[in-house]
Amino acid sequence: MSRDWSKDTRAQYDVIIIGGGLAGLTCANMLARGGHSVLLLEQHSELGGLATWFKRKRHIFDIALHGFPVGMIKTCRKYWTPEIANMIVQLKGIRFDNPQFSFTTTFDREDFTRILQEQFKIPRENVEGFFDTARNMNFYDDQSITTREFFEKFFPGRDDVHRMLMESITYANGSTLEDPAITYGIVFSNFMSKGVYTVQGGTDQFIGKMREELLRNGVDIRTKSLVEKIITEDKRVAGVIENGSTIKSKAVVSNGNLLSTIHKLVGDENFSQGFLDEAKKVRLNNSSCQVYMGIKKGQKIDYIGDLLFTSQAEKFDPQELRSKNTTSRTFSVYYPQTRPGSDMYSIVASSNADYKDWANLSEQEYRASKEELIQRTLNALEKYIPKIRDKIDHLEAATPKTFQRYTLHLGGASFGTKFEGLKISMGLPKEIPGLFHTGSVGIIMSGWLGAANYGVIVANDVDKFLSAGARNV
Ligand SMILES: Cc1cc2nc3c(=O)[nH]c(=O)nc-3n(C[C@H](O)[C@H](O)[C@H](O)COP(=O)(O)OP(=O)(O)OC[C@H]3O[C@@H](n4cnc5c(N)ncnc54)[C@H](O)[C@@H]3O)c2cc1C
Repeated sequence: MSRDWSKDTRAQYDVIIIGGGLAGLTCANMLARGGHSVLLLEQHSELGGLATWFKRKRHIFDIALHGFPVGMIKTCRKYWTPEIANMIVQLKGIRFDNPQFSFTTTFDREDFTRILQEQFKIPRENVEGFFDTARNMNFYDDQSITTREFFEKFFPGRDDVHRMLMESITYANGSTLEDPAITYGIVFSNFMSKGVYTVQGGTDQFIGKMREELLRNGVDIRTKSLVEKIITEDKRVAGVIENGSTIKSKAVVSNGNLLSTIHKLVGDENFSQGFLDEAKKVRLNNSSCQVYMGIKKGQKIDYIGDLLFTSQAEKFDPQELRSKNTTSRTFSVYYPQTRPGSDMYSIVASSNADYKDWANLSEQEYRASKEELIQRTLNALEKYIPKIRDKIDHLEAATPKTFQRYTLHLGGASFGTKFEGLKISMGLPKEIPGLFHTGSVGIIMSGWLGAANYGVIVANDVDKFLSAGARNV
């Protein structure tokens, strides 16, 4: 049984975790279970990071609860609790509607195989070859093959098929046809194994249960705790400065943005030039816009699917997807069964976005742009829910600036950094013993499942580091 560290406010911890996103939370839980003293510092008033929610009137809006692969059940059972794992349920109605195709699917291999053969007239052997190759991709594969080349191999010249296979993944994590095919293959195959899953009970209950478990395992949790600096002494990690005070620790795990961890929290002067040169090549991921719609009490919404991917773009175009005037967005519809026992309906529309399109607007332009985003979203939704404006009693929008403000991710990056960030994230402890990073790098280590799993991987590394230190005493 681990010691109840939460009862004392210590001058020194084994490990300090900066940030309570899914990676930070999972890492903290694993380390506390392993008997280490853990302090979790989160600058926001709630835990969860991007896996968050907010309340307005009678509505609760989920920000990043649109769908994740079935693997999240196993991750939660193993690294959290059976109770948390049991909250996860399948979303059965995934709908696509754009000028090239329209269909509803369970978003798994069997159903995609059927649609590719029946609707897109692709020979079965190409479909099987594609799925088998995607499923067998791993980190050690040739990373020079792009997703575009991978698609061309099995579906040459079929931009409709490329769109069908790619667009939802691009919505989800910003990856493009030019990214390494392995980043696509792993994420896509994870979804295709059994479809798309969500949390019944909502993000608030999910994160609430994680918080309870962390406290049970003795994690000392402080919210509204901004870490300003990671301190090093003799080229090793020595602790952090939080809200002006120093707290000592043997190891620090940053769950904040990788680039701000390096350049701001630690400082370039503490790294080798070679490492900084590599870090310079790391690109941030794009950001998002969202429109939150609360449905009036007593109003019912007919079932239009759980996730609805819509676009008026003639062809798949990642530039169009991120542009300020995009017609491409995902509607997540939350029916009352999302929070059993409630009569709440809400809808969240998400689109990809670039920070630069929003960052330098005047206050007036920013407000006008947000209003335009809301109105364009409502116009698009009218097609599926006629007279939608009459059914809504709360409307609000978020932009890349909103995401930056609440998570401190540079540029409001929705998925941290691009794939090349992983090597840098994993290389931190070699530069500064005791310094670790977890969460949102690339595509595989992002999203609810990727972030939580990366938290576990880093917890194992921290555990090894701390155990080695103990042996040296
Ligand atoms: C609009 C949107 C929709 C999404 N939808 C989905 C989805 O449907 N399915 C899915 O799987 N994924 C989705 N994601 C992505 C997913 O939510 C994230 O990849 C995942 O939650 C990131 O977890 P993380 O651990 O990397 O940390 P983050 O969630 O990024 O959290 C980092 C935390 O660190 C804190 N922090 C940072 N700096 C400091 C500091 N200096 N001091 C103290 N605290 C600090 C932040 O406040 C934050 O709480 C979505 C993301 C967005 C933006």
